[in-house]
Amino acid sequence: MYPEFEQVNDGLSRGKVPGAETGIEVRKTICSICNPLSHCGIDAYVKNGVVVKVEGSKENPHSGGTLCSKGNANRQYIYHKDRIRTPLIRKGPPEGTPGYPASREYVPISWEEALDFIASRLLKIKEESGPESIVFYAGYPKWMRPFLKHLAHSFGSPNYCTESSTCFRASFMGAALNYGAMGPADVARSKCLLVWSSNPFYSNTTLARGILDARERGLRIIEVGPLITPLTAHTDIHLRIRPGTSGALALAMANVIIGEGLYDREFVQNYTLGFEEYCAYVAQFTPGAAEEITDVRADQIIEAARLYAATKPACMMNSASPTTHHTNGVQNHRAIVALVGLTGNYDVPGGNPLVPPAYLYQASGGLVTREPEFEQPRPWEEMAPRVGQDQYPAWCRLVPEAQAMQLPFHIRNGEPYPIRALLGFGLNHRMWPGEDFMEESLKKLDFLVDVDIFMTDTARLADLVLPACTSFERSELKFYPEQYAIWTQPVIKPLWESRSDAEIIFDLGRRIVPDDALMQKGYEACIDWMLEPTKLTLNELKKHPAGYRITNVKAPPFQKYKKNGFSTPSGKMEFTSTILAETGYDPLPVYKEPKLSPRSTPEAAKEFPLILTTGARLPMFLHSRTFRLDWTRSLRPDPMVDINPQNAKERGIAQEEWVSLSTSRNSMKVKANLTEMVPPGVVNMYHDYPEASVNLLIEPDYCDPISGFPGFKSLLCEVKKLTEENA
Ligand code: SF4
Repeated sequence: MYPEFEQVNDGLSRGKVPGAETGIEVRKTICSICNPLSHCGIDAYVKNGVVVKVEGSKENPHSGGTLCSKGNANRQYIYHKDRIRTPLIRKGPPEGTPGYPASREYVPISWEEALDFIASRLLKIKEESGPESIVFYAGYPKWMRPFLKHLAHSFGSPNYCTESSTCFRASFMGAALNYGAMGPADVARSKCLLVWSSNPFYSNTTLARGILDARERGLRIIEVGPLITPLTAHTDIHLRIRPGTSGALALAMANVIIGEGLYDREFVQNYTLGFEEYCAYVAQFTPGAAEEITDVRADQIIEAARLYAATKPACMMNSASPTTHHTNGVQNHRAIVALVGLTGNYDVPGGNPLVPPAYLYQASGGLVTREPEFEQPRPWEEMAPRVGQDQYPAWCRLVPEAQAMQLPFHIRNGEPYPIRALLGFGLNHRMWPGEDFMEESLKKLDFLVDVDIFMTDTARLADLVLPACTSFERSELKFYPEQYAIWTQPVIKPLWESRSDAEIIFDLGRRIVPDDALMQKGYEACIDWMLEPTKLTLNELKKHPAGYRITNVKAPPFQKYKKNGFSTPSGKMEFTSTILAETGYDPLPVYKEPKLSPRSTPEAAKEFPLILTTGARLPMFLHSRTFRLDWTRSLRPDPMVDINPQNAKERGIAQEEWVSLSTSRNSMKVKANLTEMVPPGVVNMYHDYPEASVNLLIEPDYCDPISGFPGFKSLLCEVKKLTEENA
């Protein structure tokens, strides 16, 4: 922590007791280190403008006063030495300019100079190459997304894209292809929970408490996934699949459910399309056949299928991406979520009710804002095709964004038009498979701007870097599913010269979209515009700094499809997808092996016999965001690969020995963590470590053909002990 933020810890102050004697005041905010589904409430203890302590806010009904290890490290996050303090411009020509040495030196400039410079460069590039040649990108955090998307489209660029090009959107697509949309698990009213490759204890802690409460009252739990998680000890059945084979398992469960007449006949007959073709297809996935593919015993598959289908109501919990980070990801996910409709658990209490999101992905029980209209001020037809439109047509039918995984290819080939500039917020090139390929692609741009809290390795590639502030230093609107909203107010002033992302976006908006009347009214006016149908206003929310209970909201009815149909092209739940048929894919939720697997590429598996799965969460990290914090990093200081003790023994590897983790693309040095958490034959590597980033091992085009999602969670590798000779 910087000396200017150190506090004198004398007497009462040491106890951090709020009150007049200590000068410590408790102010309300939220943690935004992880995703918007959490955003736990925080009580910030502030003295002389400095946060001296953080605690979970008990008033927040979503988090109930708890913070995870990351949230508890918020002071280290806010006051970290790597914070960018002022706008910075690269000194000298960009790296890679012929005839000039690479320059990584930056000099401070004023905000006015920085914003004017960015605006003039963007407007010039727009004039020369069209607005589509400029990409607007949102990484972490996500709260600024509606404003950046609005800015991009108002400017005329179709190329607004986000970190969601590798997160959640593919599972959204899987559900949308089947149903139009699908809601979350209604655990509180359910009797059986099928958790398919999700670990809420690490990735959605606010859900974990609800599961344990429901378990105490008798909830049956089935868990699917290759890894042992904290949930496993609370389950009735754990189906420990081989990574990448979810689709085959789901089809086998459907085989049992249909074969034993456990499906919902009335739903299937009246509200679905393609059931006969689906039945014919699943016939080949007998439990015995699926055992061969998935490594899950046939009797366990039968037991799980019966438990899920015969217990009413039953709900299904998925996670953002584990089922879709595979080269057959969307189809696997379609096969999984088809089980919800098949068993009559779609949009019913205790099943998966459909609740439209209120604001920023948050379901809020019937409250609907004008966020989608705000985000899209210009229709797609008035803009050029998006990045990824030719490669991923189904994505572009369903997802209102460009597919960012295609960016490095588009930047390099310049087809059908050049990409020359990127305005990024929280851009992290390590997110791309073959991250070096993305890094080199970013260097080819004429102009790169990155807005971030810390001086990251990606920020160091930019021509201009702008300092963003943390959630403690800004105001934002937050909805929670418990019908609770908060308009946070800064608990401390923005540190150094940092500014809120929204302020930066609106300051740029004043310069590059002067004719956008709504945007010219400013940040708060735009929020009020989105809130208008809810009758809530910021003025009202500001009167409630600890948050506001939303009353008089009528929850949507269940089984809305009976009256309105499904929002699919046929108006039915589609076992055979119309959109996939129209865009050239198989309409059935077909199973295909991962492109690299012991079954699909046995020759490659001789050299690389282990299955590599990456990207699963650790509780103290959120991608790369908390690596730099002493507390969180101390919990796993070195990059480690999880390997089953049996596989380690075969290779003569001991706990915490240095090993090489290799694929056909690359190799890196990490420590071995011997653990039964991974099954024999599988190794698990946490992603994003700057000194051992696993995405370097993955080819840039190792992707699902429908969504463009990378196959992070199933490929081939080998682990070898490092000796003095080969170290
Ligand atoms: S990082 Fe932890 S404390 Fe912060 S929002 Fe996420 S779960 Fe909550």
